[in-house]
Amino acid sequence: MTTAQEERTDDELKQLAEQAGRELENASALEILQWAADTFGKRFCVTSSMEDAVVAHLASRAAKGVDIVFLDTGYHFPETIGTRDAVEAVMDVNVITLTPRQTVAEQDAEYGPQLHDRDPDLCCKLRKVQPLEEGLTGYRAWATGLRRDESPTRANTPVVGWDDKRRKVKISPIARWTQDDVDAYVAEHGVLTNPLLMDGYGSVGCAPCTRRLLAGEDARAGRWAGNAKTECGLHG
Ligand code: SF4
Repeated sequence: MTTAQEERTDDELKQLAEQAGRELENASALEILQWAADTFGKRFCVTSSMEDAVVAHLASRAAKGVDIVFLDTGYHFPETIGTRDAVEAVMDVNVITLTPRQTVAEQDAEYGPQLHDRDPDLCCKLRKVQPLEEGLTGYRAWATGLRRDESPTRANTPVVGWDDKRRKVKISPIARWTQDDVDAYVAEHGVLTNPLLMDGYGSVGCAPCTRRLLAGEDARAGRWAGNAKTECGLHG
């Protein structure tokens, strides 16, 4: 990030993000990530749930050694931790693992066991939202793998926008992609994916809050199934 960029106020960054969102709407995912890497340098990172490594792979092409931030909630499937380890081993990226303030055992002792069943919003706040907010402190821009076709709540995701909650530029380079685009990129580049995607899961989150999809369901229907909750609060 240049000195001029460093000195930008939040209002100027917001304006920059909104302008870039308009100008880059039809740009390729790689071009969007290249813009982010050029504009923010080391103050740009990619967050990954390790459902797949598509955005991490794209980002590593735009900026070698880019920071990939992974939230280890303590409730992940072993396959997800394995995907994180494999990404770290084979890709030219810097994986940073964030953890909540409390272990699952400490949380159970304070709030009672299985908080995810009784109050998933609080559980997500403690194990996802809070650690991410703390972990993103040093960055001015972060990229996600959000796609418009994943669910109605994500249908208007801009490729570059302003994250008002965290006061950062939020980049969704594959917002316009479909599942077919993802599958084609994975096949073309041999990108790592979470093995659970081959085992009936459409989206992979924490084990207690994720189930396999039923026929005809959208990709995120297996997350917090039976609960009105559809997002963990990271993207609200
Ligand atoms: Fe807790 Fe479930 Fe949220 Fe994970 S997805 S933090 S287990 S409520």
